[in-house]
Amino acid sequence: MDIKFFTGKYKSSNSYTQRADQIITNVGFLLPFAMIIYGILIQLNVILSPNRQTGWLGFSIIMAAWLFTGILQKIHPGNSPRSSSFRLLSFYTMSGVYFLLISGVNNPFVVCWPILMLASYTYFDKIGLYSGILAFTILILTDITYFHLNDPKIIVSDLMIYLSILVTGIAVITVMRTHEIRKEILFKTIIKESLQRDRVATIVNNLTDAIISTDTAGKINVFNAASMALLDTNINLNGKYIDKILQLEDLNGKPVNLLEEFKRSKLVVRRDDLILKFSDNEKMRLETTYTPIRGGYIRSRRGEAHDGYVIIMRDITKAKSIEEERDEFISVVSHELRTPITITEGTISNVQEIIDHQNATNKMIADSITVAHDQVLFLANIVNDLSVLSKAERGLDNNPEPIDAHEILNELIKGFHDKANDKNIKLSLHVHPNISKIYVSRTYFEELMQILLDNGIKYTKKGEVSLTASENDGDITFSIKDTGIGISKTDQVHIFDKFYRSEDYRTRETGGTGLGLYVAATIASRLGTKINLESQIDKGSNFSFILPAYTKKRTD
Ligand code: ADP
Repeated sequence: MDIKFFTGKYKSSNSYTQRADQIITNVGFLLPFAMIIYGILIQLNVILSPNRQTGWLGFSIIMAAWLFTGILQKIHPGNSPRSSSFRLLSFYTMSGVYFLLISGVNNPFVVCWPILMLASYTYFDKIGLYSGILAFTILILTDITYFHLNDPKIIVSDLMIYLSILVTGIAVITVMRTHEIRKEILFKTIIKESLQRDRVATIVNNLTDAIISTDTAGKINVFNAASMALLDTNINLNGKYIDKILQLEDLNGKPVNLLEEFKRSKLVVRRDDLILKFSDNEKMRLETTYTPIRGGYIRSRRGEAHDGYVIIMRDITKAKSIEEERDEFISVVSHELRTPITITEGTISNVQEIIDHQNATNKMIADSITVAHDQVLFLANIVNDLSVLSKAERGLDNNPEPIDAHEILNELIKGFHDKANDKNIKLSLHVHPNISKIYVSRTYFEELMQILLDNGIKYTKKGEVSLTASENDGDITFSIKDTGIGISKTDQVHIFDKFYRSEDYRTRETGGTGLGLYVAATIASRLGTKINLESQIDKGSNFSFILPAYTKKRTD
């Protein structure tokens, strides 16, 4: 037999089974006493029974068996499938015997049959129900065929009882089943809901944005891990007031009361002008989104607008400073570009006027064109520097490879010989032929060297520019030393800033964009190093940086 028990998985169903078990045990215990009294009245002919088949002895045996089963199952209820089926079987058998041999089917105890059917169904599901129906069918058929085949009245009465008991039993079971199905649906919904809640909780907890939810008084009731990270705390925020936890101010330093802001907000409010203050006076620029949590039907009937508030926060300090830096850069670049463009435009229109003039000489025209040409070259230099800078900032072309330092420095020096010769400057290279390789991007290294060598020659009127590479303890120091105009202490602080050019008139004698060293510093940081500067006004400058030898890198 396929025994189907409700398992502990479905708790309410299980507790239902336990309750049914108790009722059956109690009914099974009390019923024999009532049956004995009823049976005695039949034996004494006080109640007439069409089935009175036993004498006092038979009656006593049947009732003793009933009593014994009733008491036994009360003392040892037993809740295994086997004990339940044994108990049910005894009840079915003894009820059948009692009905057939003592009381007949038409007696008050027949109403207990639907209870038996319900018990069978509770324990063994459909099989239990079918068994109960089958047992009752056998009972009625036996009663009719063995005892009352010639008595149409009793046959009709038996059949009526049969039908009413079946209908009652099935109705009770259907009601119970509906109840059970509802409970099952409810249980499934609860599981689904809790799964959904877990899912949402997982998402919220893994979000990088801080999320805090409060009640209408601003008391925190939900927060995620990111909010603890943002607030740099490990205390439990539940139950704390949001205004105590988040000390906010606007961009003008005016304190902001978040709860009041919450109350003012009818819909979603997004702002990026709030500053979070920490106890150590550190500040963090926040992007915040807050919104009231819409109240349900009951709340809106009670006149309460919402259940509380949710605030989502993100640290945008860095993004804002990058944004501001970018804005400043664009404004500086456009300012720097405006001058040469204006000069070029002015000079070219000048040329047009000169040509129209009758006394125009070729020299006048050539001079103006030279000015315009110089400015265009200057523009080209700025654009070139900007493109190198942008590549370096985005890390493009940063493909490190082992590079022979001796060879690359020789090539670089060769490229600057003409320039140095033109200015009568000695250009020297000091590098050991067996110096170790370096592991860097060739493009970046060449660009960095070119900027420093170019500056060295540009800002030296007489003397020497020397390029040295020396290896020491796995590090190679590259230095570009000149005997030029040198850099004052005040200028040394600024020369790596973008578009910075010294006010020194000797600097101003040469053309320059003021971007070279800014680009050089950006490239150096991409190569993992930093440019070091030693300089003395009128004595010269020494720009140097250190890169690890490739052999060292490999053993790292
Ligand atoms: P640019 O050379 O185009 O002006 P850089 O960014 O390369 O721009 O240099 C910034 C400033 O630093 C220069 O204007 C100059 O005043 C100073 N400088 C750079 N290199 C040297 C050097 N080798 N000797 C003296 N001054 C230098």
